[in-house]
Amino acid sequence: MENKNNKKINYDFTDEITCPYCGVRESDSWENNENDGKEYCGSCYNTFFWERNISITYSSSKE
Ligand SMILES: [Zn+2]
Repeated sequence: MENKNNKKINYDFTDEITCPYCGVRESDSWENNENDGKEYCGSCYNTFFWERNISITYSSSKE
């Protein structure tokens, strides 16, 4: 059985901005034009910083 009170909030490298206090995810993270910023959580009323993790990969193929 999983103890929900000890459940670790995953807020690193998520596909949405996630509140580090309560774990609520922002469904409209992609609308942020900045790569980092300050966000106010409407769920737990805490303010937190976020940054966008950008990873670039390359693919190639034979001509
Ligand atoms: Zn929150």
